Amino acid sequence: MKNLWCDDEAKKFKTDLDLRVYTSNLLGLSDELVLHGGGNTSVKSEVDGEEILFVKGSGWDLVSIKAEGFAPVKMATLLEMVKLEKLSDSDMVAGQKKAMIDKSAPNPSVEAILHAIIPFKVVDHTHADAIVTISNSKNGTEIIKSLFSNFLIVPYVMPGFILAKTINDMIQDLDWSKCEGIILHNH
Ligand SMILES: [Zn+2]
Repeated sequence: MKNLWCDDEAKKFKTDLDLRVYTSNLLGLSDELVLHGGGNTSVKSEVDGEEILFVKGSGWDLVSIKAEGFAPVKMATLLEMVKLEKLSDSDMVAGQKKAMIDKSAPNPSVEAILHAIIPFKVVDHTHADAIVTISNSKNGTEIIKSLFSNFLIVPYVMPGFILAKTINDMIQDLDWSKCEGIILHNH
């Protein structure tokens, strides 16, 4: 796999969102990372003094996404949502729609809450062929654990609220300085 990042190219982008569009397009170019329509990306930024998560909107492809393909959702709302015991898909969609600072933007990815709770400015969510192949193989769980000891390894759960909730529980006492990433089994 080749890192497609180019310093000269990246320098042209002045805002968090524009740089995020650039790096999302780069991820989308590698079909060993994401296939058509797969994966999602985000960046945490500030708009008028408020923390906003710009997260891939549904219906957009990473390889061709543009700034208007990102849904701008208030971080505060997403961080409140993860504290709920239960949240139906329809209530999640409605609540996130209400928390968007631009109502004409697309609906955010179902993984918006997960992106919000990860305490880093930029979050990439890919479906790397190499990882999926190992994790889907016999003894995949053990092999993943031995190869990626510096990663948080999450048993398979449905994407969306339940996944965000599961990871939120797992990261309460996590030392992020020792964590290189998160691997979701069979995903
Ligand atoms: Zn995924």
